[in-house]
Amino acid sequence: MKYNIAVIKGDGIGPEIVTEAVKVLDAIGEKYGHEFVYTEALAGGCAIDACGIPLPQETIDICKASDSVLLGAVGGPKWDNQPGHLRAEKAILGLRSELGLFANLRPALMFDSLSDACPLRPELVEGGLDVLIVRELTGGVYFGERGRKQTEDMGEMAYDIMPYSEKEIERIGRVAFDMAMKRNKKLTSVDKSNVLETSRLWRSVMHKLKEEYPEVEYSDLFVDNAAMQLVINPKQFDVIVTENMFGDILSDEASMITGSIGMLPSASLGEGTRGLYEPIHGSAPDIAGKNIANPLATILSLGMMLRYSFGLQEEALAVENAVKAVLDEGYRTADIAKNGEKALNTQEMGAKVISKIK
Ligand code: NAD
Repeated sequence: MKYNIAVIKGDGIGPEIVTEAVKVLDAIGEKYGHEFVYTEALAGGCAIDACGIPLPQETIDICKASDSVLLGAVGGPKWDNQPGHLRAEKAILGLRSELGLFANLRPALMFDSLSDACPLRPELVEGGLDVLIVRELTGGVYFGERGRKQTEDMGEMAYDIMPYSEKEIERIGRVAFDMAMKRNKKLTSVDKSNVLETSRLWRSVMHKLKEEYPEVEYSDLFVDNAAMQLVINPKQFDVIVTENMFGDILSDEASMITGSIGMLPSASLGEGTRGLYEPIHGSAPDIAGKNIANPLATILSLGMMLRYSFGLQEEALAVENAVKAVLDEGYRTADIAKNGEKALNTQEMGAKVISKIK
């Protein structure tokens, strides 16, 4: 099979880590007989430098014409003083909305061999951790009406409205139930229905949906309790589904449990099979150009692309197993190496993963 992939290297460490990930994908193509065709596109600070805006129309067109999109990271101090609508990070929001990506999948996957990087007590994460957070990405308070007004007696007032429609909730709910069916058939829906009207609608839609998925063990949890449960007993979770802002916060909490930001991939999906795949970390300007960034989150993002956009389960597993084998043998980049341990550079880590795939 032939797959067209839009490749956005972006800024900072983006070009270094994406280059390694693409080499890994080529190794998969060679082994399993697929052809991956790459079209590079600009977004973020490098696009501002080249075209004056963070997300040029040409990039949107390339992404829309592709089967899937791989992104490194965007942004950096050079572009921090741009006006709000021209900030480098706007490119990501623009891509999500242009491509209709409403579901954000963030696995908090902790490899057993990295368990000493976890800030929790070892017995809480014994045997590793594998939680998938499904976050609604295009609705809720981040996209609702906002504003400020002057009041007579309380000074200036600000407001952000958190709207959600049945349709928006149902489509993210379906993604989460489908993911649960592909995993351990366990789904926790997180809301704040004791306070928020949007959460009450959220819960009623989820309850209607669960009738369609009798095999899934479903439960509801208030968001404050979810935040506690994630650190008290993270292994109780398999798939968690939640709205935009709660998901933003809980997915960061869950990823920190795994210990390293350089290890975590993510996928953003819409109605079709095309997705945007990227590491959860940013452009790490402090280490850019030094060939020391950890490429594993980007490589694991490609694993997610193989699984969710192309339906290539065996190939996705080959990527994940190669990463696991490299870690089990004790190879580390500087961010996950213990004090005094010799670390591989970005290219050496990419090459190690490829050697395991071959
Ligand atoms: P960051 O994730 O870039 O870096 C945080 C820390 O983690 C830094 O010390 C960095 O060196 C380290 N780190 C991150 N990724 C690493 C990797 N792969 N290997 C080794 N170490 C790694 O977050 P930040 O410093 O807050 O943001 C830097 C820039 O990235 C900002 O301009 C920010 O807006 C942008 N950003 C972009 C995205 C994105 O493109 N999706 C996401 C978050 C932040």
